[in-house]
Amino acid sequence: MTIANIGYQDTPFLPGDRWRVHDGSRPQAAIVTPGGAPGAPPSDALVLFDGTDLSRWQSQKGEPSGWIVENGYMQVPAHGTPGGGDIITRDEFGDCQIHLEWCTPSPPKGDSQGRGNSGVFLMGRYEIQVLDTYQNPTYADGLAGAIYGQYPPLVNACRPPGEWQTYDILFTAPRFSGDTVESPGYVTLIHNGVVLHNHTALLGGTRHKDVAQYRAHPPTGPLKLQDHGNPVRFRNIWVRPLKGYDE
Ligand code: MG
Repeated sequence: MTIANIGYQDTPFLPGDRWRVHDGSRPQAAIVTPGGAPGAPPSDALVLFDGTDLSRWQSQKGEPSGWIVENGYMQVPAHGTPGGGDIITRDEFGDCQIHLEWCTPSPPKGDSQGRGNSGVFLMGRYEIQVLDTYQNPTYADGLAGAIYGQYPPLVNACRPPGEWQTYDILFTAPRFSGDTVESPGYVTLIHNGVVLHNHTALLGGTRHKDVAQYRAHPPTGPLKLQDHGNPVRFRNIWVRPLKGYDE
């Protein structure tokens, strides 16, 4: 197809850009086949867990993950299991789209932060809380879907314990210039189809009982799942690193 057929070469340039409005020579977007069912990985996703093995995960010490894998999910193991504790991906990511599904124990055990606690740490540093907050009061910035210690979710969209729940996350990594924050990280979070954060600027790395603080780090980092001592399950985890429009 010639440029004349699909676009224009006589239109004004977009501000600060090398492309014209409706530019016929601007590179086309890559074709991606969407997943068949809601939440199914699209054709260009990196599948981090398909329900069968943890080869893309390791313990924080670099050992093979000791989390339980059965019936298509992974589960936080009993305390003291070799390879237990928090697990991280072997791959590292910057800006990305993440899909994952989680399920807290039924019948529920414990209360407040002790009920079905886990977490998704972006770049291993910024926690999106996983918690059974279905009829389980706890502090607002610790609810399921909270950016832990920073922002409560806009609403509480938690399903009952024992039911599978989805997180779809859009993450923009923070940028640093030396030790200075050039731009903060941003999170958009959709929980069970409901928006909990809309391009929310992170205050810094997650802290417990203290104010979040940035510490300069490389442009990519692993995804981390938290072992908080509760047998929380995860399944169907995939990621799509995000690039700029013409990269
Ligand atoms: Mg947690």
